[in-house]
Amino acid sequence: MFNNFDFSGKKILVAEDEKTNYLFLEALLKRTSAQLMWAENGKIAIEAVKENDDIDLILMDIKMPEVDGYQATKEIKELKPNLPIIAQTAYALAGEKEKILEAGCDDYLSKPIMGKLLLEKIDAYLKK
Ligand SMILES: [Mg+2]
Repeated sequence: MFNNFDFSGKKILVAEDEKTNYLFLEALLKRTSAQLMWAENGKIAIEAVKENDDIDLILMDIKMPEVDGYQATKEIKELKPNLPIIAQTAYALAGEKEKILEAGCDDYLSKPIMGKLLLEKIDAYLKK
């Protein structure tokens, strides 16, 4: 299933503090042939963007230690305004989506992540 997505030659940075969540995304994206990088918090994600000029897209967890997804997104967008960032959050609070978009994220998905929807969104942003 979902094997109609081909992200070969694309580098995706996954900012996610929970290893099980990262492993889920890794399993999902493996069959697309995307190259993955893992940042375990927002601070590491910012550093990864500074050090790697070839990142094509970021999957950004919101709740992370050290630097959260809001702050990491703000700082990364200052460096790379056109780098697409798709947020993932478990928060279901009213106003959450607005806060995520305000931070500069291009798009948003609620956890639990639906695999097909995530791949469709990634595909759309990689084609832009
Ligand atoms: Mg988290």
